[in-house]
Amino acid sequence: MIISLAEKLYAFKKLHKLIFLSLLALALMFVMLFASDISVSYNVRYNGKRVAQVESPSVYFEGAKLAAQKISSKDPESLMEKPFFFPTLTVNGGKSSSADVANEILNNSPKIIKGYSVTLDGEQKLFVSSEEDFGSALKARLNSFAIENGITSFTNAVALNTVYCADADFASLDMQNEFVNSLNVETVVNTVKTIEIPYKTVTKKTTAKLAGYNQVSTKGVKGEKQETHNIKYLNGQVIEDTTTHTAVVKEAVNEVVVVGVGKSYYTAAEKMASSHGFIWPLNKNVRAQFITAYWGDGRGHKGIDICSPYGTSIYAAKGGTVEYANWNNDYGYNVIINHGNGIKTRYAHASKLLVKKGETVTQGQTIALVGSTGQSTGNHLHFEVILNGTRVNPMPYLANS
Ligand SMILES: [Zn+2]
Repeated sequence: MIISLAEKLYAFKKLHKLIFLSLLALALMFVMLFASDISVSYNVRYNGKRVAQVESPSVYFEGAKLAAQKISSKDPESLMEKPFFFPTLTVNGGKSSSADVANEILNNSPKIIKGYSVTLDGEQKLFVSSEEDFGSALKARLNSFAIENGITSFTNAVALNTVYCADADFASLDMQNEFVNSLNVETVVNTVKTIEIPYKTVTKKTTAKLAGYNQVSTKGVKGEKQETHNIKYLNGQVIEDTTTHTAVVKEAVNEVVVVGVGKSYYTAAEKMASSHGFIWPLNKNVRAQFITAYWGDGRGHKGIDICSPYGTSIYAAKGGTVEYANWNNDYGYNVIINHGNGIKTRYAHASKLLVKKGETVTQGQTIALVGSTGQSTGNHLHFEVILNGTRVNPMPYLANS
């Protein structure tokens, strides 16, 4: 019995083994059926590191080609390390693509350095290793031409693009500085300037004042305007200055100068005037001149007669307005000047009148010429002073004149 039990046990073990083998065969069949992609692939070691699992070395070499295209050095392949391929049995083959391989080569090659290619208007100029250092140099260049409220920029487009190359390809610090300092910087600023407006001088001629009179009647005042300028600088030098807006803040006031053009025999007429402000109405230096009739002479003479040659100039005894300049039977050609304050003067028997009614005359101005018109018996000036409509003795008015 015992033996038969042992035999039974043995038989059971044998059966167990048989079942196990059958299951294994079934599993193998299953694998053969559903995983027929079992193949040899390659483990790639690069620079002492496992970097990829490729289906074949050709995938790696394709990746190396892609990497070479991204390297800006002259001989990219010379910068790459030698790869080692280890064949292994894998299901579904290698997982790395050639693009993955390219990235691994670029990132794991000690001779290949990531940096930046600097372009100026799209043209490649130099390679720099530090974006931060180069950026600071650019910023410093711009800041050196900065103006308050201005906008500063490079006149050409400077761009940085990622690049891979050998250490020797990078520009030295001196070369970088030389490049940065050669860049043209434009600064544009809008600024408001206050500009003075000069005043004009206007001359006003007047016969009411003697020639030589020159007096400012209205003081000139400078005006002010505000101009908005758009100023462009190139490397700190002004190259363009455009006025974009002008606003007058204060108008200028013209200076008015009164210039006397009044004609006078007496150049210093006012000094020679009497205490009443009168001057002698004829040229005193004319020899033939003398008074032939005083106030009240004979039949009650209402003026004085001053004998003088025909054509002698008759002067206004004082400045004023011509109130009358015409002919009448008694006075012949005669002039009345109104001096204001109720005082008028008359000049009679003239051969010719030189002023018109309403005209302003200055003291000493020639208003008529001596003659013998009207009730007259010879060339003389009949001169009257009329005070508030009544003729008075002229002599006190002419005293010391
Ligand atoms: Zn008279």
